[in-house]
Formats: sequence, C-alpha cells, structure tokens
Amino acid sequence: MEYPDRFDVIVIGGGHAGTEAALASARMGCRTLLLTHNIETLGQMSCNPAIGGIGKSHLVKEIDALGGAMGLATDLGGIQFRVLNARKGPAVRATRAQADRVRYKAAIRGMLESQANLTLFQQAAGDLIVEGDTVRGVVTETGIRFLAESVVLCTGTFLGGVIHIGLDTSRGGRAGDPPSNALAERLRALPFRVDRLKTGTPPRLDAKSVNFSRLEEQPGDNPTPVMSYLGNRGMHPRQVSCHIAHTNERTHEIILANLDRSPMYSGVIEGVGPRYCPSIEDKVHRFADKASHQVFIEPEGLDTHELYPNGISTSLPFDVQLQVVRSIPGLENTHITRPGYAIEYDFFDPRDLRHSLETKFIHNLYFAGQINGTTGYEEAGAQGLLAGLNAARRARGLQPWSPRRDEAYLGVLVDDLITLGTKEPYRMFTSRAEYRLLLREDNADMRLTETGRELGLVDDTRWSAFAAKREAVERESARLRASWVQPGTLAAARVEARTGTPLTHEYSLMDLLRRPELAYGDLADLPGIEGQAVDDEAVADQVQIQAKYQGYIERQQNEIDKLKRHEATPLPANIDYRRVEGLSNEIRQKLEESRPETLAQAGRISGVTPAAVSILLIHLKKRR
Ligand code: FAD
Repeated sequence: MEYPDRFDVIVIGGGHAGTEAALASARMGCRTLLLTHNIETLGQMSCNPAIGGIGKSHLVKEIDALGGAMGLATDLGGIQFRVLNARKGPAVRATRAQADRVRYKAAIRGMLESQANLTLFQQAAGDLIVEGDTVRGVVTETGIRFLAESVVLCTGTFLGGVIHIGLDTSRGGRAGDPPSNALAERLRALPFRVDRLKTGTPPRLDAKSVNFSRLEEQPGDNPTPVMSYLGNRGMHPRQVSCHIAHTNERTHEIILANLDRSPMYSGVIEGVGPRYCPSIEDKVHRFADKASHQVFIEPEGLDTHELYPNGISTSLPFDVQLQVVRSIPGLENTHITRPGYAIEYDFFDPRDLRHSLETKFIHNLYFAGQINGTTGYEEAGAQGLLAGLNAARRARGLQPWSPRRDEAYLGVLVDDLITLGTKEPYRMFTSRAEYRLLLREDNADMRLTETGRELGLVDDTRWSAFAAKREAVERESARLRASWVQPGTLAAARVEARTGTPLTHEYSLMDLLRRPELAYGDLADLPGIEGQAVDDEAVADQVQIQAKYQGYIERQQNEIDKLKRHEATPLPANIDYRRVEGLSNEIRQKLEESRPETLAQAGRISGVTPAAVSILLIHLKKRR
C-alpha cells in the first residue's frame, strides 16, 4: 500500500545518526518520518554507555549548539562525569560522561515523541524508491510505500551485519537485533563503492560477582561537569564511581594461546577494525612487551548490576572470554551476563558523498553515521544532524549548508571523510583539527548557535539562553578592560601576594587575567574595584579562556584569514613538490599522491598543515 501522507524527509534508522537527523529536520518545520526497526531501541547505545571524551565531546557540544539532543540526553542520563585533560590547555579539554543506558534512551525517546512535525514508524526499510537518479521514497519490508522529497539513511552496523563469537557466526545488526539484508542488497546494486568494516564489544559482567575491594575506585569530578549548554547539575541522576582493573601476564597467555580460535586471526573476519579502540587480542598481539593493560569497569546504569569492562573488547570464544575475565584481579569469580562479540558490516565509501552528505549518484539521498565508515555515537550524531538539516533544506529548495574546517569539528569530520575516504573505522581526535585553539568544547555555542538559529535549528529557549550568555561575556570582558589596579593600593598588594612580583605601573584587570599565575577568581573581589564579578561559571570560563589565549587565537585567526584570501590560488599541474623547500617528506609524498588543484584543496589533505600551505604560498610567489 501507499501511505496516504507525504513527507518532506524520511529518516531510516533510529540510532544516534537517525535520531539527530529526524529531530533536525523536524525542528526546521519539515514533515519528517523516522522509520526504524524497533521503537524500543531508539537511541540505543550498541556498545559502551558513555558519551564524550577526547575530540568526541567537541562534537557533542557542537550538536548541542545546533539544537541537537545528545548533550541534553547525556545530562539526563549521565551517572559519572569527568573532564579529561583538565590540566592541559582548553583546546584539548574534553568532557566525558558514563551514562545510564536506559535513562539515556528514555531521554532521546522523550525528545523524539514530543518533537512537533515528527512521526515515528516501526518497520524495516527494505527498498528505496528511485526514479532516474533521484530518490522518491522508501518501501518497508512488508510493502508499505512512503513518499518524500528526500531520504536520509542511518542504518549503522546493520547492513549485511555478521556477528562473530569465536568461530561461530550469525547474522545480526548487533546482538539481539536482525540485520538489514534486503536493503543491503538493494544498495549494493546502486553505483556506490561498498566495503566491509568490523567493530567489537566486550562481555558484560555481573557486579554481584565482582570483588570491588581489589579494584581502584574512580569517582567523577567534583563539581560535576555538565554536557549541554542548557544542562545543569540538577538534571543529573545520582552519581556513581567507575573502577579500574588490570590485565596481567596470565591474561595475555590465555589470549595468545587461543588466537587461532579468534575470527580475526584465523582469517574469518575480513573487515578492518577500529585502530584506536582495538580488541584485547589486538592489544596483546600488537603490544607484546606490555605486561598489563587497564580495564575500566563501568556501570551500565543505576538500576542494573551489569558492568561494562572497557578495554577488553573481544571476539574470542566464550570459554576463552570467561578465562580472560577471571584472570583479572578482582574478577576471579565474575559471571559474564553477555558474551563479547565482533560485528562485520557494509559501509559506503564516503568519497561518494558531497559536503552536505548527499550522495553523488542519487539526488536527495543522504547517508549519515556508521555507514559512512565512522565509529562512535558522537561522530554518528553529528553527521545525522548535518544530513537531516540538508535533507530538509533540499525539501525546501534551499542551498546546502556545511561548516568549514575552521568553524567546527563537524566540518573537519565531513571534510576528512569526503575528501580522503577511510580504510578503517574513523573516529574523531583533537589532532585532526588544524585550528584546535578556535574549535574548543567550551565555545561551540559561540561558534555555531547563531548560525543554527539562522538555519532554523535553534528554538527560542536555547536562543535566549545563548544571547544572555554572549552578552554577559561581552559585558564582563568590557568591565575587566576598563578596571584598573594602581600600584601601592590594597588591590595591588593582593595581586602581588599571588604572583610574587610587584606591580610597577597600573594594569587593567584584563591585562592581569592574561598572566598565567592569575585566575578569574583571583581578580573577582579585589578591594576598590568597581562592578561585580560574574558568578555564572560558564561566563567566567569563557572570559578567562578568551583573555588567556587571545594572542594564540588571533594568530590562528590571521592564518585562516590569510588562507581564505588565497583559497582559489591554483597549484600548477607541473609543480615538483621535491623542490619546495621546507616541506617534510611525508607532506611532499601526500601532495605528490593527491596533486591538489588549489591551495585550499592542498590544505584539506590530512597531515598537510597550515604551515605547509604557507610554504606552498611562498613557493608560488617565488615562481612568479
Ligand atoms: P546505529 O546506532 O547502529 O543505529 C542504526 C539504527 O538503524 C538502529 O536503530 C537500527 O534498528 C536501524 N536500522 C537498521 N537498518 C534498518 C532498516 N533497514 N530499516 C529500519 N531501521 C533500520 N563505537 C565506538 O566508538 N567504540 C566502540 O568500541 C564501538 N564498539 C561497537 C561494538 C559493536 C558490537 C557495535 C554494534 C557498535 C560499536 N560501536 C562502537 C559503534 C557505535 O555503536 C556506532 O558508531 C553508533 O551507534 C553508530 O550510530 P548509527 O546511528 O550510525 O547506527
């Protein structure tokens, strides 16, 4: 049958990409259908119930700044929050939250159900309706036809999914869920380049059988960090600790003795796995000199005894998994509630996509999430938001939008994927971004919320909270610039006591804040200084970071401006990169291989640094 209502946008798959895609499209006022296998698994975390971490929290905060769901769901479901790299510079600081799997899922579902313009429907998509080279809709496996202007495909690890536990294999999209075989076959018949990747997950443990006295406790940070710009500590459920355990030589012996029973080492699995999230058999094999690896024992939720042992993802047979777990001090008598497994699945070469995430071969069809070769909820959610936004813009007849590399990690992610493709599951790192000092997790709202508002993604509540914060930051920065500390005053004595150096002339509070020894709090209540310091942590943080890093930030901004002026500068086809002085061999090789046509394209090649682009620019000037 043909469904009587027509939609602007259909999103297939209710994982992390699909839910952000559907919410973004609906927030923009487009009639949106989210078609998914099972409404009960909307927002389900297939692997570790944790959100954020290095590079990834930047994406969560960008999703949040553009009105998305992931940050708020994390605040509603997070049971342990930490700031990683807290002692390093703000560019690499990252918030990570352990989430209660059930609460997180409920928060996402709540947002989906209360979103205007969004319709949910539970069924598997089995086919796409394609006329000529344009998608027109979707057919479910039971034959219901849904028509729409554009379609976003977010089917994660489900296309042609094969699960491996030791040498046993079964078909599945993840444990407990069916694979998407009909759709996979249909997509393989279209002109996309398809390949296989794999990922894995550890066994889950029963906390009742763990000896916590032998584990190291790892409480969350105090005060508790918050993920969303609209979040607050009052939203968090009860907070709990994680724990740390360690593998040992006995663990490694068990693994090495059983490698021939691992589907990865016996050649059964062909797909490439995530380099930065390797299985325990990979770690033991690759880092043979390491006598021990850390295992983070993380709760799956507040109302369950299940634990997630982060660090021992494996596809070894169950009997070996049990021996491995029980060889770890503290887990000697531990019961496994679910075996670990690996999954192999189809992914599409993202070089067949445009910056909008629309496919190059089929108009109005968008791909987002794990099917583009990425791994991780955050990477999926960010792509979903972008694809949903662009599918909605297409339905409205508007031009696509996508952030640049100097605007957002989302810009880096998409640009890396579509220009370089990927041979292994791609995850975000701060090192992938050239302009790390500008793209901090603390300023994603300053970078993106105004654009999000113009795009129709940001509602009134978020907009007024953002506008008030931005104004408060500007007001407080102006006060600091206009407030002076004179030598010989009580205020000067306070500053001198902190810094250990006398003030020889007057300084503005802003000048003082730039000094490494002084923090915003030190300057908050100096005697004789007019005006009240702000007590909003986010505002104070922003004022302080902008002040302390102003010099570096300006330098990076100048670099970007300079590059922008020269973006269209052509690189001659006969340029001999071996003769360009100052380039590293690695960069020379990358340029030789890719032969970019313009300076902008050269700058987008991963590993080609802004400094290398400046060298190219100087070289071109010399040639003239
Ligand atoms: P998913 O979250 O997989 O969601 C896909 C959704 O599409 C599901 O709701 C599914 O039901 C639905 N769907 C699929 N086909 C159809 C269809 N034909 N019709 C209707 N609905 C459909 N990430 C890490 O960062 N680190 C890890 O260590 C890690 N390990 C993992 C281990 C395993 C075993 C798995 C399965 C995943 C792992 N991941 C890991 C990846 C992480 O789960 C994904 O990156 C993330 O969930 C991808 O989000 P997504 O929205 O693209 O897809």
